[in-house]
Amino acid sequence: MLVECDNCSALVEAQVIGAYVQEMEYDWMCNLKLSLCKCSQCASPILVEQEYEFDHEENFDWGIPKRIYPGNLFHINPIIPDKLKIGLTECIKCFKGNAYTATAIMCRRTLEGFCLIKGAKGKNLAVSIKKLKEDGIINDQLYDWADELRLAGNEAAHNIDNDIDPLVAKDILDFTIAILDFTYSFKDKFDKFKNREKKK
Ligand SMILES: [Zn+2]
Repeated sequence: MLVECDNCSALVEAQVIGAYVQEMEYDWMCNLKLSLCKCSQCASPILVEQEYEFDHEENFDWGIPKRIYPGNLFHINPIIPDKLKIGLTECIKCFKGNAYTATAIMCRRTLEGFCLIKGAKGKNLAVSIKKLKEDGIINDQLYDWADELRLAGNEAAHNIDNDIDPLVAKDILDFTIAILDFTYSFKDKFDKFKNREKKK
């Protein structure tokens, strides 16, 4: 399975060494699967947890692996599009390498890529973000975050006198991750839930 390896700072193919399913007496849909894996590149141990979920064909299957060990400072959701995953990985690499201004610039670039993938193309990023909101892809709260990200990214990219503070860089990175996570994971999950309820 595909998981994030801290040591490699990348999404890697991990070999499953052993798995354990915790069966819940009250509801089998709440069963949990824990898999101990080994990074195929550096052999680091990785423990992941999976919940039961509906897949795209409405069949039950184990959901997206969530890393339990090592503890996650940042989590890249494996279901987000590859181009954004690569962008986000680079944002995290910048942050871990104490390159905070570069983190802000990379986050802005990732946000720009997100707008493009979602078909929100304006004459500048401010317009594109507004379009994301108008198209119902992000809500008001995420719009505010995205717009702050844009401003911080602008400042980082164009103002040589302004060094980005580590805490600000961490916030910018957290917001970028949250926007993508919300759009690709929670919204997707919620849309599936609504569809199921409609069919009942
Ligand atoms: Zn590794």
